[in-house]
Amino acid sequence: MAWEENKHIIMECVSCGLCQSNCPIYKQTNLESNSAKGKMTILFALLQGMLEWDEVAERMYECTTCKNCEATCLSGLDIAAVIEAAREELVKRGYGHTVSGELAKNIRGTRNPFGEDPKERERLKRLAEA
Ligand code: SF4
Ligand code: SF4
Repeated sequence: MAWEENKHIIMECVSCGLCQSNCPIYKQTNLESNSAKGKMTILFALLQGMLEWDEVAERMYECTTCKNCEATCLSGLDIAAVIEAAREELVKRGYGHTVSGELAKNIRGTRNPFGEDPKERERLKRLAEA
């Protein structure tokens, strides 16, 4: 439902590009497809049936959801909301991020995101308190 509620945001992007300059992922990769403008264009192509969900997954996960783009967005769009909704839809469709899956498995198994033995935490705690 989150995807259905938020996908209208994609249609409101006017492709002005004002969001690019303060996107940390764009600055790091220098790829327009990693800016909010690029992500909205990719999701528009998805809505038009020109791309499939598995083809948009990588770009959707390459976003910190920092909302920096929203500070300069000409249309005042909630970019992070649509990206989070797209991620939720990706997970539902079986395209969850592999790292997230591993973290969840570790947390369920050991209550540690890295899968470390909980006894090690107690040992380190004792060392820190000594
Ligand atoms: S929310 Fe995502 S797209 Fe927007 S500035 Fe942050 S990293 Fe870039
Ligand atoms: S600033 Fe907003 S309207 Fe302009 S390209 Fe970026 S997301 Fe689209």
